Amino acid sequence: MDVADNIRQVREIIAEAAGRSHRPPSAVRLMAVTKTVHDDRIVEAVRAGVDIIGENYVQEAKRKLETIGKSGEWHLIGRLQTNKAKNAVRLFDMIHSVDRLELAVELDRHARAAGLIMKILIEVNVAGEATKSGVPIADAVRLVRAVAPLPNLSVRGLMTMPPWFDDPEEARPFFRALRELRDRIETDGIPGVEMRELSMGMTGDYAIAVEEGATIVRIGRGIFGERPPRAPGPSVRPPKTP
Ligand SMILES: *Cc1c(COP(=O)(O)O)cnc(C)c1O
Repeated sequence: MDVADNIRQVREIIAEAAGRSHRPPSAVRLMAVTKTVHDDRIVEAVRAGVDIIGENYVQEAKRKLETIGKSGEWHLIGRLQTNKAKNAVRLFDMIHSVDRLELAVELDRHARAAGLIMKILIEVNVAGEATKSGVPIADAVRLVRAVAPLPNLSVRGLMTMPPWFDDPEEARPFFRALRELRDRIETDGIPGVEMRELSMGMTGDYAIAVEEGATIVRIGRGIFGERPPRAPGPSVRPPKTP
């Protein structure tokens, strides 16, 4: 299976879906999700022109960056413990998984120490699933308002991971809810908050996410093939009925 071919195919599907939402293909950035993926395949993806590399784990990303070097943007998409905030700030260009004030405060502190402004997304648990990270939708605005004054963080938008469905069409209401939440926060005009990004859509449902306004799609298996069965991640979750 050829990584470059897969990327071409994913780009075509993104372009078609962007057209259906009356946006240019360039409005959607493609992230290659590289958890458990070997270094040489990541390099292939970078060469084939993905916009972003997405990693779930700080330590794994650190090792990969030391081996293959930094090219393009690297974003953190996995759950982040506060004791890894320091390394996360140094390694990544954006952190998609900020879901609590305590974490934001730590990221702000380490960003200040490193002399940089860290771009973040607020992760929202739209479906309110107990097993998932993300701020509940009812608390999202409050969290954005609390994070906004932190001087070394720049809030760029929202991220979500909807429940798993056999039929991706069933994920549409969750993507739409995230877009509506973003639009609502944007009209509040909170200083320090730029509600631009919607990070949503994975291998099984990205066409729907793009139709609903995604600006970053996070694709793992659709680029690199199936992960090993014991690897953590959405592909090993059992199907769930809504
Ligand atoms: C693993 C992962 C993805 C990619 O999932 P695929 O189904 O392989 O496309 C996207 N987002 C997050 C947060 C992930 O953990």
